[in-house]
Amino acid sequence: MLSLIYDPDLFTLKLDFCSIFLCAVLKLNHHPFRAHFLRSCCPLFLTSFQSSLLLLNASSEENPEFWRSQAQKTLQSVLDRKLNTNVAKNILFFLGDGMGITTYTAARILKGQLQNQTGEETVMTMDTFPNVGLAKTYSVDFQIPDSAATATAYLCGVKTNLNVIGVSAAARNGVCKSQKGNEVTSILKWAKDAGKSVGIVTTTRVQHATPATSYAHSASRKWYSDADMPDAAKRDGCTDIASQLLKNTDIDVIIGGGRKYMTPKGTKDPEYPRDYSSRGKRKDGRNLINEWQSMKIGKVAHYVWNKTDFDAVDPETTDYLMALFEPGDLRFEAERDPNMDPSIVETTEKAIRILQKNPKGFFLLVEGGRIDQAHHAGRAFMALHETVAFDYAIAKGLELTKEQETLTIVMADHSHPVTFNGYPFRGQSILGKSPLWATDMLPYTTLMYGNGPGHKITNGKRPDIRNVNTKTKDYVQLSAVPTESATHSGEDVAVLARGPMGHLFQGVQEQNYIAHAMAYAACVGADQRHCPFFSANTIDLTPLVTSGKSEVRVIEERNTSAGWMCQCGFLQSILSRF
Ligand SMILES: [Zn+2]
Repeated sequence: MLSLIYDPDLFTLKLDFCSIFLCAVLKLNHHPFRAHFLRSCCPLFLTSFQSSLLLLNASSEENPEFWRSQAQKTLQSVLDRKLNTNVAKNILFFLGDGMGITTYTAARILKGQLQNQTGEETVMTMDTFPNVGLAKTYSVDFQIPDSAATATAYLCGVKTNLNVIGVSAAARNGVCKSQKGNEVTSILKWAKDAGKSVGIVTTTRVQHATPATSYAHSASRKWYSDADMPDAAKRDGCTDIASQLLKNTDIDVIIGGGRKYMTPKGTKDPEYPRDYSSRGKRKDGRNLINEWQSMKIGKVAHYVWNKTDFDAVDPETTDYLMALFEPGDLRFEAERDPNMDPSIVETTEKAIRILQKNPKGFFLLVEGGRIDQAHHAGRAFMALHETVAFDYAIAKGLELTKEQETLTIVMADHSHPVTFNGYPFRGQSILGKSPLWATDMLPYTTLMYGNGPGHKITNGKRPDIRNVNTKTKDYVQLSAVPTESATHSGEDVAVLARGPMGHLFQGVQEQNYIAHAMAYAACVGADQRHCPFFSANTIDLTPLVTSGKSEVRVIEERNTSAGWMCQCGFLQSILSRF
């Protein structure tokens, strides 16, 4: 009997007579893999297939009772579910930037494999959410959106154009003048106006598209500091995103990166004093960190930039926290220095502990912001590890809050052109290679990209990766089309919900519906119908779209349904079902 190592991912395989026999059977039966078996990989495939089943699953999964009882338990738990129609005291909003469904599934497998499981059967924390829907992500002007347009949809409730933040589609990308009068406010502001505490936690700079949309209005997502703005925009009265962090909404907790947009040009960074690119960028000479601190005099407010000081922040006695751990975006989780920077789990925990002291509750946006950036670089390892860390942050969020009073949402803003392909064996590394080779007699990775920097075709041939370790953090998966950076992709994204009114997050909806449904559930913003004190009076929703203000105007005896149909058709139709 011959022994050999076939795939360094997982299995030591035995080539034996049985596999040859099975190969012949499949050949006779015209199995769909037949063409591949007829090539050299046939015996390898079968032995590996057998081995995987025998090694990992035979004892339980071969028994039909395993699947029946598993399904029956699931059925019972679904039957036992009770509709939670409470008013949400808290909203915990987890946004995985670029966390499309392929990323979600692949990260689930990785999470399990990091715990020495086969992975496919692993239950992520986000898998446990009882309500699932899909959101259509297109923007007003593009079939495939960016994070600014999508954030304006799911945070402000209004779809808009690519690259713009907190303004409607009447505004034009990069045109300051078009921004005026077209501002739309976000659920973060609506929650603050309702007396809740509010916060943002991100792994990117806090001025980046997703967090910025919660507090800023900008005709360009790239106006991080005044140095990033064209003179004309400044002349026309537009202000940079970093300065709006202090101006628009009184945000209780701000955690992420982005120090360099807060300090005057040339200011040395405390962590990288010798690195020129990390130095302050502001041309207006303002030090927004100092300004923030002086604005909070009389309150317990901490600004921190390293883990030691962060750990020393006592959430029980802290009113305000600004934590900026890097000059720009935070490091990828796989490259994070645990002595210098906290994980997304730790930042999520600190934020919740500070915010939840408010008896009126809180709104917290937690962004896993670098899933997207890893995918742009064609680095699946990084994207998946970021997603796994994000899932642990969600688990921490659930641990610290109560399902009866906290609406927790997990969603992505848009997807990426990463594909999950081939016929990898059960339990094979998600970052590994297909056991069945392509017609060029070369293996390929299970995860690949439609476009991106991983395009390496020379003389019509793909690279031979037989001896390449594709599971390293720096490995760039093959892409079909060469682009410097992988684009986004346009398929729908998953929306997962748990807690009060979680059942509103079902079906296939426009992405801007999310903000309306969250606001309804928590009784914030213009929609007051779910509020304990709601009367038959009607609400005028126009301020949400036109004036940038979120005050509620109660207008006596106006026709309710006509007003609602134009804004919240989806919400109305879903509510009428319950
Ligand atoms: Zn992106």
